[in-house]
Order: sequence, then structure tokens, then C-alpha cells
Amino acid sequence: MRYEGTVYRPPSEARSLIVQVTIGCAHNRCTFCSMYKDKQFRIRELEEVFEDLKSARAVYPKVKRVFLADGDALVLPTDKLIAILDKINELFPERERISAYATPQDIMRKSSEDLALLKEKGLLMLYMGIESGDDTILQKIDKGVASADMLEAGKKAKEAGLILSVTMISGLGGPRGSAAHAIGCAKLVNEMQPEYASFLTLMLEEGTKLYEDYQSGEFLLLEPRAVLLELRLFIQNTNLESCIFRANHASNYVALAGTLGADKQRLLNEIDTALKEDDFKPEYLRGL
Ligand code: SF4
Repeated sequence: MRYEGTVYRPPSEARSLIVQVTIGCAHNRCTFCSMYKDKQFRIRELEEVFEDLKSARAVYPKVKRVFLADGDALVLPTDKLIAILDKINELFPERERISAYATPQDIMRKSSEDLALLKEKGLLMLYMGIESGDDTILQKIDKGVASADMLEAGKKAKEAGLILSVTMISGLGGPRGSAAHAIGCAKLVNEMQPEYASFLTLMLEEGTKLYEDYQSGEFLLLEPRAVLLELRLFIQNTNLESCIFRANHASNYVALAGTLGADKQRLLNEIDTALKEDDFKPEYLRGL
């Protein structure tokens, strides 16, 4: 396999075969994100992707999961994606699932028929960074879409039979936007009902616009206690039928995991205990 630059994948894809079908992120403007700042976005040639798949086949006797990288593989035209899915199916008949990152813009650009066809060809799961459900925050971070667009994209993916995993970021609205962020996120996931939802906690990275805003005093970070209170407000306002919830990433101050709504009260209790005991992960142990 050949990889260009740093390759990112969701934590749940740690054991997947990762193949770069694009390089970078087509949007690449979110003010908090440094992941693909050093990459000029481009779509890889099919031949290159096929060569990588063939070399992986020669090395790995069993491949259960395949993750299409980089930042938003779903940006690929449908015919190219189908050619890649067909090649994966041909070379790895044992594969159980294929997944990819997708921006809301990518999903909205695809027709429902195209999404259903991709699902039929084995694309099972999409990871969509919704970051916040609050439109003021979404505008500030230059996400390029509003919460209504996120909802439309999420519903469209689900209607096509795709499993949806969404990610949000604690602290993204700073202290002033914290309550709106928590309630906006809850409202959005309540309407979307994704199968998976997770929270990272904001960590600023040099080279991003948000880092500059922090340096100039324009943006303020939340203290650990405020992050937990924000998460508490989110959970309190959720009305989810069956959503696997995770806030146990290296960036989170307290590791939380459960199913919402079944574990709602337990998760609230765990937050309350952490708040009462001042039990937060120290900064030096946090990471992205
Ligand atoms: S957060 Fe996602 S969509 Fe935004 S720039 Fe980073 S990779 Fe691209």
C-alpha cells in the first residue's frame, strides 16, 4: 500500500484496510481542522487505487473491513466509487463492510438512487462530522452548511439504507455558545436518529484559524467542568431511540459510552460523579 501524507480514520476503523481514494479534503475550510491543511485536494486515478488494492490482497489473507480515505471519499463521482467498490468486492470477497467519511455536501450532491446503489455495492457506513447543531457556530467554523442541510443529508443517507455515524465537538461554541451548542446538537441528532453519535473535545491546533482566534482572545476554550456541563445538557436533551453513544476519545476529559436512550440516566450519573469528584483527565494525557 502507498499512503500520501498523514492518513486519518475513525477509531472504529483501526483494524480496517485503509485505501486513499482521494487525497485531502474537498472542503478543507473548517476553522478548527488541521488534518488536511498540507494536502492539495485531488481524486486519485482509478489505476493507482486498483494497484493499491491488489498489493493489499497480496499481503493480507483476510480483510473484513475497508475504509475509503481521505477526508470525504464520498465526493468521488458515483461511477468511480462503484468501480472501486466492484474492485474491492472482486479482490476481497470476504469483506464485511466498506465505509467512508462523507461531508453533508457530498451526500446532498448524490441522488437517492446513487446512494442506494452504493449501498448495494457494499458501502455500508458513512461517518459525517456534524460538529454542531447550532447555525451560528456552524457559520463561525466555516462548515459550509447549516443544521438543516446536515439533517437533510443524514436523513437521505439513512433512507438509502446506509448506517450513519456522526461526530460533534465539545467546546466548539466557547463559553458563550455552549448552551446553544449542546441544545442544537441534541435537536439535530433527535431529528436525524443516527445509529452512532460521538463527541470529541476541542483541542486547538497551531496553523488553524481557531487557534489564531484563541491567541488573539477572540475565542475562549471551555474549562473541563464546563465541557462536562455542556455534555450533560446535550444528553439531557436527547430523545434517541437506539444510538450508540461514545465520548471516550483521547481528547475527552471523562470517558463515556453507552446507548441512548437506554443508558441516558447512567451517563448523566457518571457525569455528575465526575463533576462532584473533580475527576477529569489531565491535559497532558489528552490527544487527538
Ligand atoms: S473537519 Fe472534515 S470537512 Fe472540515 S476541513 Fe476537516 S476534514 Fe474537511
